[in-house]
Amino acid sequence: MDLYEYQAKHLFDSHGVPVTAGEVCATPDAAHEAARKIGSAVVVKAQVKTGGRGKAGGVKLAATPDEAQARAQDILGLDIKGHVVRRVLVTEATDIAEEYYVSFLLDRANRAFLAMASVEGGVDIEEVAATRPEALALVRIDAIDGVDETLAASIVDRAGFPSHIREQVISVLVDLWQVLVKEDATLVEVNPLVLSADGRVLALDGKVTLDDNANYRHASHADLVDKDGTDPIELRAKEFDLNYVKLDGEVGIIGNGAGLVMSTLDVVAYAGEEFGGVRPANFLDIGGGASAEVMSNGLDIVLNDPDVRAVFVNVFGGITSCDAVANGIVQAVGALAERGTPVTKPIVCRIDGNNAVEGRRILNEFDHPLVEMVETMDDAARRVAQLAGGAA
Ligand code: GDP
Ligand code: MN
Repeated sequence: MDLYEYQAKHLFDSHGVPVTAGEVCATPDAAHEAARKIGSAVVVKAQVKTGGRGKAGGVKLAATPDEAQARAQDILGLDIKGHVVRRVLVTEATDIAEEYYVSFLLDRANRAFLAMASVEGGVDIEEVAATRPEALALVRIDAIDGVDETLAASIVDRAGFPSHIREQVISVLVDLWQVLVKEDATLVEVNPLVLSADGRVLALDGKVTLDDNANYRHASHADLVDKDGTDPIELRAKEFDLNYVKLDGEVGIIGNGAGLVMSTLDVVAYAGEEFGGVRPANFLDIGGGASAEVMSNGLDIVLNDPDVRAVFVNVFGGITSCDAVANGIVQAVGALAERGTPVTKPIVCRIDGNNAVEGRRILNEFDHPLVEMVETMDDAARRVAQLAGGAA
């Protein structure tokens, strides 16, 4: 999970990395109030999970609360690379003497971490790396040893930080490493790390990617989940612990196994061309051992998507045999009726694999007017595309 700048800076602050004080605001009035409280010039910064906000007009200086309000008015609602700005960070403005770059990231290929540092920060670091690679210091970090003062000092010296701020940058790097380790992040990046006119080294921007596999160790990270930036159906699916991604078509997809679900998306998109270009509405992998309960939750999620016009359940029985899957579908349809959300959209099922004959018999016997069975994946894709395309 990527964090917003304000969230990243909050983590920085809690591990001792110096940042400027600020407040997140959703309205121009709130920005006025925040600037008034800060009591000096401020920067109003779009909170979107993409870089290059400055160039896109999403970072503006404001000398007074009135100006902060006006800049917030300009920035809120802006579309920055497809991300609509819903909140701004109003933060104390810094008089910048120099801008640097530092980051730590997971280096999977080398089973290690990597430190990157440059005294040419602020700008596009990819451009520095491409055009002046000698200006970007790359230092391998042993995953067990981590970053202590000695390693931090060698990063600082390799990047060529001026000697009068050497100790401050070392301390920032040691603390920043603690952010990565203690929060289980795979990336911590500061661009720019600045030297202020009054001689302080500060993180003016922050990017953090948390390792979701470590969420169980961090109860507090649940609060960092972006409720309004995430699709509401995806949020509900997450509560059910389902592997769901919203797409923009009309055919609901449920399958077991990521590979099978991906091929299902392809065959449905292909079949859909014939029926007015209908497309998959989602990716949903209910996993190898899909129980009736998981099937109910999956159907619940997919059927409640207002974009969905027909559902394709494509299951290959393996560890969970087809009769169990068929029973799961039957129970799921019953459970949905009990929940007060009976099935109202057609469901096309293709079940194959372990004990397929018995599975099909169960569904045939169920004989629900909206549940159809089709033998092959291609035929089922055509049928569901036809139903979603409006034909009966
Ligand atoms: P990004 O464009 O999304 O990376 O957003 P940043 O937070 O990095 O801001 C972009 C640029 O705005 C920085 O590189 C700075 O040059 C400038 N900037 C940000 N905060 C301040 C500030 O407090 N004072 C001044 N003078 N410039 C700032
Ligand atoms: Mn930046």
